Order: sequence, then C-alpha cells, then structure tokens
Amino acid sequence: MKRFLIFLFTVLSITIANARPYTVETIPNDHLKDARDYTTNPDGIISAQAEQKINEMLAASESYATAEVAVVLLGSIGYDDIDDFATKLFKYWGIGKNEKNNGLLFLLVEDQKQMVFRTGSGVEGVFPDVILARIIRNDISPELKNGNPDAGIIAGISKICEILKNPEVAKEIMQKEKDKEKANMMQFLYAYLFIGTIVFLIFIALAIHVINSKKTNHIKCLKFRSWKGGVIGCSVLFPIPMLLFLIFYLIEIKRLRNKTIACSNCGHNMRKLSEQEEDTYLTPSQQSEELVNSIDYDVWLCDNCNNKEILPYTKQSRYTSCPHCHAKTYYLSDDRVLQRATTFSRGQGQKTYLCKNCQAKDIAKYIIPMIIISSGSSGRGGSFGGGGSFGGSWGGGGTGGGGARGGW
Ligand SMILES: [Zn+2]
Ligand SMILES: [Zn+2]
Repeated sequence: MKRFLIFLFTVLSITIANARPYTVETIPNDHLKDARDYTTNPDGIISAQAEQKINEMLAASESYATAEVAVVLLGSIGYDDIDDFATKLFKYWGIGKNEKNNGLLFLLVEDQKQMVFRTGSGVEGVFPDVILARIIRNDISPELKNGNPDAGIIAGISKICEILKNPEVAKEIMQKEKDKEKANMMQFLYAYLFIGTIVFLIFIALAIHVINSKKTNHIKCLKFRSWKGGVIGCSVLFPIPMLLFLIFYLIEIKRLRNKTIACSNCGHNMRKLSEQEEDTYLTPSQQSEELVNSIDYDVWLCDNCNNKEILPYTKQSRYTSCPHCHAKTYYLSDDRVLQRATTFSRGQGQKTYLCKNCQAKDIAKYIIPMIIISSGSSGRGGSFGGGGSFGGSWGGGGTGGGGARGGW
C-alpha cells in the first residue's frame, strides 16, 4: 500500500510537472545531447519523422553557410510574451557562433497559437524581418491553420535552408514583396482616380441639370451655393479632377448672381444697385441682417417703371430667425453652468439669446444629465528585446532582437 502511494505520488508529480508551462531554464536543450539535433519538440507537436527531416535539412545547411538554426516547439510558456521569451531563450542558449552572432531561433507556442523568428545580428542581413514575416505568413501559418504542423514547420525551415544555401533567394523574395506593394499601390491609385472621376461627373451632371432648368438665376445661384460644403470637401479629397469643377463652380456662382435680369413688370433690363445705393430700398430688419452678415441682399431696380426686386443670399453665420421680429439676427450670447452635474445628481445650465434687430433678450434654463461612469479598457503593445549575451553549447551568439512574429 505504501509503495502504491509512493507510485501514485510520483505519477501525479510527473503529470503536474508536464502540465506546467516551460521557462527558459526548463526547456530540454536537445542540441546539448546530440550536435545534429536542432529541434526541441518535447510535447510532440510535430512527428518524429518530421523532426528527423528538419534536423537533416539543418545539418546540411549549417555546413553550407555556418548559420545555426534552433527550432523550439512548446506546448505552453504560460502567460509569458512569446517575443520576450524568444529573446531570453536566444541569450540563455547562446544560439549562433560566438564571434559571428549567426544564430536563428524559431519558437512556436501551441496554446498561444503564436510563433516567432529571432535572429542574431550576424544574419539579420540574410534574414530581414520582412522575409521571416513572409515565411510565417505564406509557408507556415496556412498549414498550421489546416492542422498540419509537420508540413508547416518543414515548409518554413526548408525555405530558411534555401535562403542559407543561396542568399539570392532572399533578394528575389524581397523583390517580389516590393513588386506586390507597388501593384497594390497602383491599384489603390487607380481606384482613387476612378472614384474622383465619378464624383466629378456627378457634379457636372448636377450643374448641367440646374443650369438648364427653367428657374430664375437667383434660384439657380442659391442651388449652387447649397453645394458649397460638398464641392470644397470633394475638392480636398479628390483634387484631380475636382479642382477643375471648383473653378467652374465659383465662376458660375458669380455669373448667375450678376447676370442682368428682366423686369417682371415691363420687361426692361434691370440694374443691380451698389451696397450704398441699396440701403434705401431695404427694411430696417433687412439692414440689420446685412449689418450682422447673416443675409446679403441684392437689390435690382427697373429704371423704366421703378419696379424693384430684392434677392436674399443667406450666409453661414451664428444667427437664426428671431422668434419676436423674425429677422435673422438672433443668437446665443451666453451659455453657463449654474450647477454642475455629479455622479448622483443632475445639474442646471442657462442659455441667453439676444436679437440684434429688436434687442429682445430670452433666458432658457436646461438640465444637465447625471454623470455616468463607464469602464474603460486599455490596449497592450508588443516589445522587442535588446542586447546580446554569450555562452552555451549553441556557440554563444547573441541577438539584437531582430525577427518576426505571427499567429495561426
Ligand atoms: Zn420695369
Ligand atoms: Zn428680433
């Protein structure tokens, strides 16, 4: 019975030890036992056959380029960040030849569904981060997603070996990446120009429609003016070809506003009065509106029959229509908090409105709602390690923190 209890305890402690996540110090360093074993696969993430194939490929490539590659596949590292962990492991094992810093670490952590490459400073030139990221994205990730870790890791490491044997391969991959970027850029540019042209054509069609309509020049001009925000916004977004339309638009607004109109009474051509002349024909309210610049009036006079036409052009301003005199000279002159809102009580505010035409003054009190505290969240960024350290049977190489990271 006692023996059985000891046996049970031993089995339990082994089980617990295996379930515990690895630290840098507890990972079995298989390379120590066998110099031709580059793969650490204690949790059987890939098959023994795949492991053997990877070791054969790496043994062959080390003799080519004397780069040292370590492949470490772990079930779990707990909640540690894989980037930090890889940098620590690289230094702890000292991957790469001491004087060349030519180590390359591939670390995969199954429960995090993450993997990283970490490079020694001596191979950063051969393995730029872009290349490693591409290998993760194109060669390894898709296979892992399909549940084929053997195929994924073999494909990734075989690409690494290919580059080790012939660094030109890396250059070709880089060129391909650049070409792809360029193609994407061109595609974006074409789409951008296409949308700009469509917007331009829509505005042209609208303008032709308005100009050909049977409305007065005043109405046409007001219609044009109502597009101002859209035309300016689109000209900023799509300067080509919208700036062309903007020029036409500004000229057309001026033309429509100043084009001679015929008297509705006698048909004689009317004359547009100057700002000084027009005041005698405007009401005090209209003069107030002109004074505060909320509406601009054009006064047209018929010298034949003395008929007059007053055409308003509303401008963008802080003034609204006064509820007392109806002139567009009413504005918010003051907005103050009388009592602040807190997390347990409502507050109160007061707005004061004034009219610059009839001098009316209105005071309106309003309620400020109670403050509700919402819980926020914070983001988390990745980080890179730095510096190098030496020692260990991997050759004592250091890492400057270069590499790439990806998931599946
Ligand atoms: Zn007339
Ligand atoms: Zn008023």
